[in-house]
Amino acid sequence: MTEEISELTTDCPLCHRPLASKEYHQAIKELENKIQQNYDEKNKMKNEEFNRQLKELKERHEKDMKEHRINHETQIKKIELDLAK
Ligand SMILES: [Zn+2]
Repeated sequence: MTEEISELTTDCPLCHRPLASKEYHQAIKELENKIQQNYDEKNKMKNEEFNRQLKELKERHEKDMKEHRINHETQIKKIELDLAK
């Protein structure tokens, strides 16, 4: 169980900001469940909406991660240099 939680909440090693929160994973799971439950021709519109939300959520997260890494770029480089010594 502990392993599962640590997998769901990853903190940035540099600033300890949570990188992928439990809420984020839960939101994704919920949307995926909704999509599965609506797997029916008549719910096509609903499913498209859920898919769109899911895509948006993932894209936003990816963008966040990229920005986060860019913010730490100098720190990361310094650490890598220190490790290479
Ligand atoms: Zn950070």
